[in-house]
Amino acid sequence: MIIWGLRVIYHTVAQGTFFCRKCGGDRAYRRRAGRRFITVFFIPLIPLSKTGEHVQCTTCKTRYVTEVLRLPTAAKMQAALPAGMRALVAAMLIAGDPASQAARRKAIEAVTGAGAQGYDDAALDADIAQPAGAGRKAIAALGDQLQVPAREWYLAEVIRIGMADGPLTGAERVAAEILAAGLGLTQAQVIGVITLTEQGAGQS
Ligand SMILES: [Zn+2]
Repeated sequence: MIIWGLRVIYHTVAQGTFFCRKCGGDRAYRRRAGRRFITVFFIPLIPLSKTGEHVQCTTCKTRYVTEVLRLPTAAKMQAALPAGMRALVAAMLIAGDPASQAARRKAIEAVTGAGAQGYDDAALDADIAQPAGAGRKAIAALGDQLQVPAREWYLAEVIRIGMADGPLTGAERVAAEILAAGLGLTQAQVIGVITLTEQGAGQS
């Protein structure tokens, strides 16, 4: 008597680091592809169709669809926040008054709050001295990793820096619109955030 069976054999097609929701952190993963085989006496002999690929956490063994790799790792996220914030605040200060003490203090607070410990006036001056458009990539990377409400929150932070030394000027408003587009916000979302932030400042 021959014992027939069916089995899926997986092999690893790629490896890397991803954010595992189950473990709650950055973990190594294996991206695996499978193929069905007909087994004879438990030995896979006749290859059949391929199965879809999946991603498996090597720590907790949880399997995910491959789209999980599009999510940023925690390390990437941690690097993107301060880098994006630095580019945002520098652009807003250039549009307004880079020498304003109130705006500079708020800018440094915002960058420090985004995770850049030790960010100071000298670092801010270095960021302001960057050529125009140097921060575009960092801003796009930040926008990529945030959902819309979080992008709006960052934009509001930047608008408050522009308003630290008085009402938003025309140039600061234009800067806010350009930065918002860089973050991936729509025109309507930008107008909403500017209006709400100006109203919020009027009440306080
Ligand atoms: Zn895991």
